[in-house]
Amino acid sequence: MIIIFAIDALEYEKVEKFNCENLKQMHYGRTDISEFSQPRTMVLWSSFMTGMNKEKEVLKDGDKEMWDKKWDIKETFFSEFKNPVVLDLPGYSYDKKVHDKSRELLKKFFETEDKKEKDKIRKQYNKDAFEHHRKIKEQFLKAIEEKKEKHELVLGYFSVADVIGHLNFGNTTIMKMIYKELDEIAEQISKKGKLIILSDHGMKALGMFGDHSEYGSWSTNFDTKLKKPKITDFYKLITELKN
Ligand SMILES: [Zn+2]
Repeated sequence: MIIIFAIDALEYEKVEKFNCENLKQMHYGRTDISEFSQPRTMVLWSSFMTGMNKEKEVLKDGDKEMWDKKWDIKETFFSEFKNPVVLDLPGYSYDKKVHDKSRELLKKFFETEDKKEKDKIRKQYNKDAFEHHRKIKEQFLKAIEEKKEKHELVLGYFSVADVIGHLNFGNTTIMKMIYKELDEIAEQISKKGKLIILSDHGMKALGMFGDHSEYGSWSTNFDTKLKKPKITDFYKLITELKN
């Protein structure tokens, strides 16, 4: 089985700082996303699953509408695999309602001047993100354990580091807790198959807040010649792994 642990905004430097050995695996590095005008989540995951730079196509109706984009399985490498499971991936199996709600709260947070109101919104926003994380984690671990279904590929997309990071990146306690949680998931799944851990972009501090950084990161639990791959390089790597 090939397992893809897709982590939004996993920051290379935080993985180092918090010493997340399981996220680093055997081989580990940054990705080169300099071909894109900005590190946009939807553009990057779309390019990953199709193996092509999809920036133009994703943005053709504007920044807001990009979240509606959905790729057909035939346009992605998922079609190369028997009985694939792809959980919550932007542009494919994304739970748009959950993510719309968090973007809405984020907007409200920055619109209000009232400190109490800000605290209230942040609390709700963080709570929603953790709840959603737990739900996807449960589905991901379950799919990996399912022997009868013979999934050749299981991908789980985790947004918690990105969502929480946007409002709390300057809060080391919270961020460390998230990285430890992700590191524990990596530990649990690392012996279940060929594991690729991939982030679309990282995150940099903007005061207490977080913004997307201009590189992503990758790691594998098997030998590979990857050094600083583009996010579109994984299409070929993953389909070749199958054989
Ligand atoms: Zn992202």
